[in-house]
Amino acid sequence: MQVRFPRPYRWLTLGYYPRLLGLLNESNVPLRPDDLTFAFSREESRIPYLIYNGLTGLKGLSVPATKSYLLALLQVIYYSLAFIYLCIICLLHYHLHFFPRIKDITFEQFCTDYFIPQQFSQEVLVPLYSAVCTCKESDILKYPAGLIVGTYTHSTGTDSDYIAAVFGTRHYTIASPRGFQTVVEALTAPIPRDRIHLSMAISRISGSSPNYTLRSQNTTFGPFSQVILATPAPISASIIPPTRDLSLIRKALKTFKYIPTLVVTHTDPSFIPTAPYLQRDLHFQRCIQSPQIKKCQGMVESTHIVHFRSPHLRSSQVFQTTNPLRFPRTETILSQTWFERYLPSLESVRMMTEIFSGLGQGTGGIWFVGSWLGEGIPLLEGCVESAEDVVERMVSQTNARL
Ligand SMILES: Cc1cc2nc3c(=O)[nH]c(=O)nc-3n(C[C@H](O)[C@H](O)[C@H](O)COP(=O)(O)OP(=O)(O)OC[C@H]3O[C@@H](n4cnc5c(N)ncnc54)[C@H](O)[C@@H]3O)c2cc1C
Repeated sequence: MQVRFPRPYRWLTLGYYPRLLGLLNESNVPLRPDDLTFAFSREESRIPYLIYNGLTGLKGLSVPATKSYLLALLQVIYYSLAFIYLCIICLLHYHLHFFPRIKDITFEQFCTDYFIPQQFSQEVLVPLYSAVCTCKESDILKYPAGLIVGTYTHSTGTDSDYIAAVFGTRHYTIASPRGFQTVVEALTAPIPRDRIHLSMAISRISGSSPNYTLRSQNTTFGPFSQVILATPAPISASIIPPTRDLSLIRKALKTFKYIPTLVVTHTDPSFIPTAPYLQRDLHFQRCIQSPQIKKCQGMVESTHIVHFRSPHLRSSQVFQTTNPLRFPRTETILSQTWFERYLPSLESVRMMTEIFSGLGQGTGGIWFVGSWLGEGIPLLEGCVESAEDVVERMVSQTNARL
């Protein structure tokens, strides 16, 4: 049997992927509950200083690097109380709208102003979100707090919250060994094959509303009255027509910055602790010294043990490491890919709200979708959310014309 490893591998939780899970259910993509456990370490030995044992926290925490029993107990109590405190702040903010200024401050300001215990934020929150957002720990300090803690002023009626929403919700993964390929097939099934053009970079869009032409190196497509761009914001800025009515949009698109992320799939077990009782689904290794891969300086290396729970990989060992601090042994590398991922800032979030959630979308028949237009951390949920938003706007424009 052939097994596909999605790059990167994904877990989906009902807490913050309601739209994506709904779409997968509607498309008959098989899902299975798949618990998620993870561990943090900073030592070369990779012995974790904190392990999260899963089931939305019900299975508790462990601190294997701590030798004294009493100290270990105190640390587990400290981390548990700090997490409960953080959840209370988030729930008050998210459901009762107690702290409206959270949407205007950085994550670092949030931790200081709301008295998040320092060791908990430095040892758990910052590395965790650095891994989730595939950016440096220092980038997480500058991250808009509202994206992580939750926002409730929505133009699209969508909520996002990556702390309280996890409680009581399970993680799921795609049950088919063909992974996300099943999703692509289900979603593209109704589109005639001769209308799908793959591996064809669009270099520019020429013309003006309602006659646009898409141009690649060797061919052209069109004319089109409406164009939906699902390209990264900086690419969209470079290919949209140079017309005057799109100049504000072009300027806004340039405020969305992207950063590189490396994902390596391999069979080198030296990226996880040697002892099986210390192994979990995901291992976060913090950067302690200058890494071999310079672009990963300050990042948190995360290794997913792909075979850990997979019913399709009983006899092989496969790991997927995101932002490795060093390369796995050459003969163990199965594949490696650099990705570009959106890194939000307070300015780009403001642009998103003012321009793209507002009247900017659809100017001259040019539309934008992608995770950079979602409400929270840039994840797949944002892609579905922005796509639904564009469809609704297009339908209401058409209805208004009739
Ligand atoms: C390492 C890593 C791990 C992640 N883990 C998760 C996770 O577990 N869960 C989750 O929900 N999200 C995760 N994400 C985030 C998620 O993958 C992204 O948010 C999502 O893929 C962004 O979708 P997008 O459509 O906005 O952009 P992209 O996925 O970047 O898609 C843009 C597309 O535009 C195409 N393109 C670019 N230039 C051109 C051009 N000139 N002409 C035509 N096409 C062009 C590209 O080929 C690409 O297909 C992860 C991201 C990374 C990098």
